[in-house]
Amino acid sequence: MEPVLVVHGGAGNKPYFIEEKKDGISNALEAGYVILKSGGSALDAVVKAVVVMEDDPHFNAGYGSVCGIDGQIEMDASVMTSDGRFGAVAAIKNVKNPVLIARKVMEETEHHLIVGENATRFARVMGFGSFNPLTPEQEKRYREYKSPSYYSKVDEFRKLYGLGTVGAIAIDKNGDMAVAASTGGLFMHLPGRVGDTPIIGAGIYANALGAVTFTGFGERIMKNLLGKVVVEMLKDFEPYEAVRRLIQQYDFPFGVILIDKKGRTAIAHSSRYMAWGTISRKGKQVEIE
Ligand code: ASP
Repeated sequence: MEPVLVVHGGAGNKPYFIEEKKDGISNALEAGYVILKSGGSALDAVVKAVVVMEDDPHFNAGYGSVCGIDGQIEMDASVMTSDGRFGAVAAIKNVKNPVLIARKVMEETEHHLIVGENATRFARVMGFGSFNPLTPEQEKRYREYKSPSYYSKVDEFRKLYGLGTVGAIAIDKNGDMAVAASTGGLFMHLPGRVGDTPIIGAGIYANALGAVTFTGFGERIMKNLLGKVVVEMLKDFEPYEAVRRLIQQYDFPFGVILIDKKGRTAIAHSSRYMAWGTISRKGKQVEIE
């Protein structure tokens, strides 16, 4: 099987840090593809690609995550493999790479999802030190929009929705597929809010048919279980047809990257913009469109 890696850097209505995001996506693709090219696993490749974007302050994941209404950063992340392994963390604080903690949940515990303070505690037990993911840019942005009432401003916050969540899907030379995703969630969310990213079958899903991750309004992605729905559609349709039907059916802004067991990929969005990139033996492509 020819290895393929696809990553996204979020979907939304307002692009920011466009050139920086393109560089970040390119770096993530290179870092993940080196692993695939040398015979490494899809899981190692997607986790590496996501770590590179979490470390990059221009994405809403890890360092660079957006603030909630209380000025705190709570992050969600997950990993899943085509043989059905899954791990996730939600509303985790003060770690550098939430995706690495999600992988530990998958590989070191009997559980699938660990949340909040206890996710942070789990990270420490696993040897991950304390890290403040707040960048000067996100601190400034928070101060500009700080509001005593979430409810009076929720529409305004929605309009500010910009791209920045990250995800990656891959197939390796053995035909194994994996997916990883990470986010700081929605800007100015309520404390304790969890999006679709760490919810199996919602923002992330994989089985023997394919692997997928979503970006966009997490509540809608979650409510409609889009991850599970679109992977099941691979029984009847090629990836592009599956995502085309999904976009036709659901009328809210989202972005999706999908791969099937033949290594065919689809990248699509109903939001105004999406940042994405793909790499394989055929070459590398990075777009914000
Ligand atoms: N889906 C993410 C969430 O709702 C946000 C995003 O994709 O930008 O937490």
